[in-house]
Amino acid sequence: MKMYPAGQPKSTDEAPYLYEFESMGLNVPRYLQWLVKRLGEPHKDLPGPPVRFLRGYVPSLKAAAELVPGASLVINATGLGAKNLEDVRDDKMYPIRGQTVLVYAPRFRDPKVARCYSRITKEGATYVIPRALSGQVILGGTFDVRKTDTLSPSADVTDRILRNCVELAPELLPETADPNDPTAYVTLDVLRNNIGVRPAREGGVRVELDKPLHVDGHDVGVIHAYGIASYGVAAEVGALVDQWRSTHGPRAKL
Ligand SMILES: Cc1cc2nc3c(=O)[nH]c(=O)nc-3n(C[C@H](O)[C@H](O)[C@H](O)COP(=O)(O)OP(=O)(O)OC[C@H]3O[C@@H](n4cnc5c(N)ncnc54)[C@H](O)[C@@H]3O)c2cc1C
Repeated sequence: MKMYPAGQPKSTDEAPYLYEFESMGLNVPRYLQWLVKRLGEPHKDLPGPPVRFLRGYVPSLKAAAELVPGASLVINATGLGAKNLEDVRDDKMYPIRGQTVLVYAPRFRDPKVARCYSRITKEGATYVIPRALSGQVILGGTFDVRKTDTLSPSADVTDRILRNCVELAPELLPETADPNDPTAYVTLDVLRNNIGVRPAREGGVRVELDKPLHVDGHDVGVIHAYGIASYGVAAEVGALVDQWRSTHGPRAKL
């Protein structure tokens, strides 16, 4: 990772440093589709696919455990839903509304051009996140803590996001546009305006083995994994699964 002075900060609350580092980039929608497909496909060491997907609302973790007779473990990754589950009721959970804009920027298909950018100040965050090799780029964004009064994207916010992101990454513009023209951002090809709520938690993420549930006379382990999502959380949950199974052994194939 390189760190160097960013020149004259634009305001007093802007950090006078830039960080630059190399990392892996994913196309998240494609990655998730690939994961679902892989987990649902037959496996050479198992009689069927590793995972059977069921979709539906469950009022409690106990109700989730009862969906799979003989289940030994429930992993609770319900995000904001952890607030409403009857046997969790985590009042530390709260929503953070966010608006982003998905654009098509053909120059970003080239991995040498596509870069992530982010600038965070007291006024808000500006970020540019390429979806690997596709030319699609997520531009953001807003961070409205505990606000859910409206979940419709605002045209003014879209305008601000586009303008700020082009200032940060002029290569978002088509090659024909003039990067010195302050109105050039209007030429961006907007594919979609997104708005949604992020799950957040006072005190941070909850990843832990909880006391077991009692279902049909058996102990069913409970692992919580909510408040954030990342590969790191999945690795930690994997270790907790091993911990539970080392003392309780497997019962049903989940
Ligand atoms: C606008 C916006 C931009 C974002 N940008 C980024 C980004 O650039 N990078 C990044 O890392 N993250 C980003 N995030 C955050 C990211 O989306 C979340 O961190 C992530 O979705 C959390 O994943 P999760 O699986 O923990 O929870 P969720 O995605 O909230 O999944 C929880 C699931 O549990 C289900 N559920 C809840 N309760 C029940 C119940 N009782 N019964 C059955 N099902 C239930 C829900 O339906 C949902 O499917 C963004 C979020 C928003 C809104």
